[in-house]
Amino acid sequence: MSSPVERFAPSPTGPLHLGHAYSALLAFDAARKGGGRFLLRIEDIDITRSRPEWEAAIYEDLAWLGIEWEEPVLRQSERFDAYRAVLDQLRERGLLYPCTCTRKQIAAAMSAPQEGAPGPGVYPGTCRGRAFDDPSPGDDYALRLDMRKALVSLGGAGVVRKLHVKEVGRGPDGQRGKIALDMAALIEGTGDIVLARRDVPASYHLSVVLDDAYQQVTHVTRGHDLFDATPIHRVLQALTGRPTPIYRHHDLIRDESGKRLAKRDDARSLATLRAAGHTARDIRAMVGL
Ligand code: GLU
Repeated sequence: MSSPVERFAPSPTGPLHLGHAYSALLAFDAARKGGGRFLLRIEDIDITRSRPEWEAAIYEDLAWLGIEWEEPVLRQSERFDAYRAVLDQLRERGLLYPCTCTRKQIAAAMSAPQEGAPGPGVYPGTCRGRAFDDPSPGDDYALRLDMRKALVSLGGAGVVRKLHVKEVGRGPDGQRGKIALDMAALIEGTGDIVLARRDVPASYHLSVVLDDAYQQVTHVTRGHDLFDATPIHRVLQALTGRPTPIYRHHDLIRDESGKRLAKRDDARSLATLRAAGHTARDIRAMVGL
């Protein structure tokens, strides 16, 4: 087997905490053990929330942990042209539609469920079928993937069922091994996801899939919280002809009350722990490595 390419892909929107350290160390250790490569990617498509000082803090924290990554680091904010090119192709294939719904409108439509409507938390499809010349020029809109059309274009239920992802970690319910895609779940439980936000020509799902392929990532190590994103990523890989990495979803690091750590949880940030005198070895012990 060829050597693994692992990556850690934080967003520079706040301090890294123990959960990030766990993810980064697992990926780094796996790359080392397999004689492979470890890459760092700065996921800064959220240009309003990303800050250079948080990016600098990421480098500082990871270096302190003893992690080494290849240079240059890939920044998603420098990849907008690549994302745009793929969006144009998907649009030409008739798989995208412009969505002018505001968050408020979506919330209102979701709280008034109708018969035949998708599951809770799923975009109700208000703008589905809207033509590209429909929004007035200058109108802001997001681009959504028409999930039904996308799955049909992949060959329909029979073919979609044959698409799978390999999980070498563990899903939230213990899922492991070859996990097949479920067309009904994608239509009803996932729905028409955003591929380009109003403000940037990308979304989390699109940029992750394109960049994992661009960086030739073979192994994706990330938390359980992203487990449900993986079938979406598999669909996008199939639609755009990108390879599928092996996935390892790991447990989340929780606080004493069982709550998962968040970026705003400053007390457990790596910078705070470092300032309190802890060492990189202490951090490894705290996350069970
Ligand atoms: N940027 C994402 C985060 O900060 C992680 C992306 C991924 O691992 O797929 O949670």
